[in-house]
Amino acid sequence: MQKYNTSGSKKLYEDTCSYLVDGVSSSFHKAAVEEYPICMNYAKGSKMYDVDGNEYIDYVGGFGPMILGYANDSLNRAVKDQLERGSHFSTLTPSLAQLSKKLCDIIPCAEMVSFQSSGTEANMHVFRVARAFTGKQKIVKFEGQYHGWADEQKITISASKLEDLGDLSSPSRLFGTAGQRQETCDDIIITPWNNLETMRELLEKNAHEIAAVITEPYMCDEGPIMPQPGYLEGLRKLTEEYGVLLIFDEVITGFRLALGGAQEYFGVTPDLSVFGKAIAGGFSLSMVCGKKEIMKVGHPSGTFNATPVAVAAALETIRQLETPGTYEKFQALGDRLANGLTETGKKFGVKIYATANRSICQLQTGIDYPVKDFRDCLANVDYSLYNQLFLRMTEYGIRITSARGRLYLSTAHTEADIDQTIAVFEQILSEIK
Ligand code: PMP
Repeated sequence: MQKYNTSGSKKLYEDTCSYLVDGVSSSFHKAAVEEYPICMNYAKGSKMYDVDGNEYIDYVGGFGPMILGYANDSLNRAVKDQLERGSHFSTLTPSLAQLSKKLCDIIPCAEMVSFQSSGTEANMHVFRVARAFTGKQKIVKFEGQYHGWADEQKITISASKLEDLGDLSSPSRLFGTAGQRQETCDDIIITPWNNLETMRELLEKNAHEIAAVITEPYMCDEGPIMPQPGYLEGLRKLTEEYGVLLIFDEVITGFRLALGGAQEYFGVTPDLSVFGKAIAGGFSLSMVCGKKEIMKVGHPSGTFNATPVAVAAALETIRQLETPGTYEKFQALGDRLANGLTETGKKFGVKIYATANRSICQLQTGIDYPVKDFRDCLANVDYSLYNQLFLRMTEYGIRITSARGRLYLSTAHTEADIDQTIAVFEQILSEIK
């Protein structure tokens, strides 16, 4: 196996840094551990091709949206067809009506929907809806969970050591980036995940001022961290008992675990939910949905909300995902990948915990058991080993996310892609040894 020459990427990045902040358009687009990002020219199916002409099997999936793979023919046709008829009308269209109804049909909590362009915006809107409906101000979020990059959303994400998190009963509220307003912290309560006891205590004392609890239905951003048996059901019951809304942030899990998201997969229905990323197969679209009486108090604005192009892409994405057997195929590929990674780890005596839930495969390093929460991750996961694997996989043509081990599958991935990935993984572990 030959390591790639990526000198073209290095040069492009270094030249661009003089004009473009950070040399990329999102802080996720270049990992902190990378000297320079791999710069891409084009992509098709499960493959990407960089500016030096190297081919990569891609599991980054545009950080989640590319559930049909790159340049999917039917999706491109649907989008081109819409482009011919106009890209942006800023009014109701028949396709928008069709998509709204479709989403209400397939997502368990969706009696009504509203559209935005990114997960961040949708979460900003859902916080507002929850506050407007309940007349209360505070939102409870969980340690290690990310809901976007707005002031209120990006708290505790910067924690990189257990000590950063403070006491279990009064966790620290850390900012994720410079310039966040201190006051926004006051309305956000942080608490550990997968712990119904701390949640009950919290609600007992503070429910009178809490509008909502927001959670990823399973923690993907730090994950894989699955809900303990009964945890989501317990959250549902407790929030109902104390008159607090329950919001599922399905920006990652939406359309990836099931057409109806994690709420369908786990069989727990929240009051409100947020979807983004995979909803439109790579076009900017996000959505808040939920109970009619709650949704009706929110009135989103936004020039680019649900452009006809994004709506056409969403309808085609859903049409393809509805093909019978899609999610079973995801699970089979995911299991092949996760088992291959875990077994290769065992072969070389390196602790790897990999699992797959439908189209989301995840890999943790330095442990061989499922972690329970963010504190468990910080205490036990070997992040520096992960960084090493991430860098070396790229050198041999496999792209995985820099962020804590997510490998997104698409309908374009094949068993041959998975087997090639495992072969590279073997090579890397043999080198590290
Ligand atoms: N919620 C979750 C769970 C996410 O993972 C993300 C992005 N990774 C967001 C919200 C924010 O979405 P966006 O980047 O589209 O603003």
